[in-house]
Amino acid sequence: MLQPALARTVRGRDGLVMPAFGLGTWRMGESKSRRAAEVAALKLGLDQGVRLIDTAEMYGDGAAETIVAEAAQGRRDEVFIVSKVMPHNASRAGAIRAAEASLARLMTDRIDLYLLHWRGSHPLEETLEAFVRLKHEGKIRHFGVSNFDTEAMAGALLGRHGAAVASNQVMYNLARRGIETRLLPWCAKHDVVVMAYSPLDRGQLAASKGLRAVASRHGVTPEAIAIAWTMRLPHLVTIPKATSPTHVHADLAAARISLTPDDLAVLDADYPPPEGDVPLDIE
Ligand code: NAP
Repeated sequence: MLQPALARTVRGRDGLVMPAFGLGTWRMGESKSRRAAEVAALKLGLDQGVRLIDTAEMYGDGAAETIVAEAAQGRRDEVFIVSKVMPHNASRAGAIRAAEASLARLMTDRIDLYLLHWRGSHPLEETLEAFVRLKHEGKIRHFGVSNFDTEAMAGALLGRHGAAVASNQVMYNLARRGIETRLLPWCAKHDVVVMAYSPLDRGQLAASKGLRAVASRHGVTPEAIAIAWTMRLPHLVTIPKATSPTHVHADLAAARISLTPDDLAVLDADYPPPEGDVPLDIE
């Protein structure tokens, strides 16, 4: 059954409008025996109303992108696709080649949001020049970065193409709240959409008593509450990854949860916000 809450969107710089809830694909495409289940998990999400899929050329050495293509076959216009270029491919010419290879694997003519996966040795200005060219050619619709801390973001926005750096994808979950000190408010101020990756701390998030109590109040799993928490602000997007159909169903429930001030206080007590400046967690 279609869940309308999954269609909620967030807005950012350069006219970016994207769904607030999506499914991740890291660790997909690594084993032939799991492929059918991985395609089925994404399809199940799309059938229920998921409108965003996050992938990268790195995942499964390109195989995750082919899984996304298979899952989205015949419904490309319904899905907002995010993919990423690896830093060593992100030269002026290399980023163009990488994007074209991703387009071929994704079996599409455009990527909705294209990110630099993390900072590497190629000058950022070169990568962004390539992104601008890809955008002019209609091969990508928006671009951004990933794993950038506040200083790196400030540098990116000051550059010639900074006005169009629309998103930063970083690790963020109840157990890893470091970005709340500076990066999260900084991105809000500059209209940069923050994509929270590993919202379940890669499946390692331990559910506290308080988290379980909030979950039972809302009639959902602790995981759904943890995911809902990573999309509680207007500039936050969440991208949990789930292969098991039970996990997919549980995680999708997050999109319809509105956490109350009481819920947030319980979660703050069990998973305290950072007290000082904390370096960015990187996967
Ligand atoms: P995650 O979403 O925090 O956790 C995924 C793990 O949690 C999987 O093992 C999954 O199991 C399990 N899980 C999902 N729903 C569950 C539920 N309801 N109950 C119990 N377990 C559940 O971790 P992630 O994959 O690291 O992050 C999500 C996405 O973010 C990635 O897939 C990727 O697209 C993106 N990402 C980006 C970066 C970056 O550098 N930009 C880095 C890491 C991740 P099953 O799969 O078995 O269902």
